[in-house]
Amino acid sequence: MSSGDISISNVSKVFRANTPSPVVALDGIDLEIKEGEFVSIVGASGSGKSTLLRIVDGLTGPTGGTVKIGGAEVTKPGQDRGFVFQQDRLFPWRTILDNVVLGLELRGVKKRDSYPRAKELLAIMGLSKFANSYPGELSGGMRQRANLARAYALEPKIMIMDEPYAALDGQTREIMQQFLLDTWEAHKTTVLFVTHQIDEAVYLSDRVVVFTSRPGKVKESINIDLPRPRTLNDKRSADFGQYVERVWTSIEEEVKASMQLEMEYGRA
Ligand code: ADP
Ligand code: MG
Repeated sequence: MSSGDISISNVSKVFRANTPSPVVALDGIDLEIKEGEFVSIVGASGSGKSTLLRIVDGLTGPTGGTVKIGGAEVTKPGQDRGFVFQQDRLFPWRTILDNVVLGLELRGVKKRDSYPRAKELLAIMGLSKFANSYPGELSGGMRQRANLARAYALEPKIMIMDEPYAALDGQTREIMQQFLLDTWEAHKTTVLFVTHQIDEAVYLSDRVVVFTSRPGKVKESINIDLPRPRTLNDKRSADFGQYVERVWTSIEEEVKASMQLEMEYGRA
């Protein structure tokens, strides 16, 4: 058992449990993720992906089942985990640089030590010129890059990412994907990644987990046996295309099923 292993056993989550209209967001999720593995979750909106990530981070508890990290049950967020949300969580009254070092500051790291690392990350993110700007002066894509720099600055053992690149334009997204893969290969982080972009999931992952529509269950888990390190060129290979097709078909079945349910529900 390694400290970066995530073990999700029979996890369920019911919202509004004691009301006439409970929402079963997750139903019996089993997922074993090994230290250093890169796993993406894809599935229709509302299939409980964000809820599962929040449970793994310890922001909320499961209604049933357990999540263990390195063998210990998760009850609250911890320094071993970093969480990147789709929306940035920057503080508007702090400069970009001071936002990036915030987590380190909370751990008692002095600016003398945290600034050089933060500046390096800002350079990678193409934000060197904006170190002393405030979040309000940056575009959405730039803010999200600063947000990513903040998460990476903490060098967590496990990176939990909820559609982190959804707001970025295509070109920036590809640069960020490459940066994520490079960092992952260098640090052997465990990554749990949610995306709507199927090609992104295939490109990054060792394994793509497809969720069923609400309630979320694991529909299938597809190993991506493409060689590493991967480069953007690999996205044009026939094997890559076949994986994308396979994941896409699996999701499409689910989306159709959920639309059917909604139509029936609407008529009822
Ligand atoms: P996804 O990230 O796959 O789109 P979510 O995990 O955000 O799905 O949501 C799963 C289901 O749980 C949805 O039906 C959503 O409306 C519901 N849900 C999520 N959070 C809450 C909450 N705090 N209270 C009530 N229902 C919620
Ligand atoms: Mg979500």
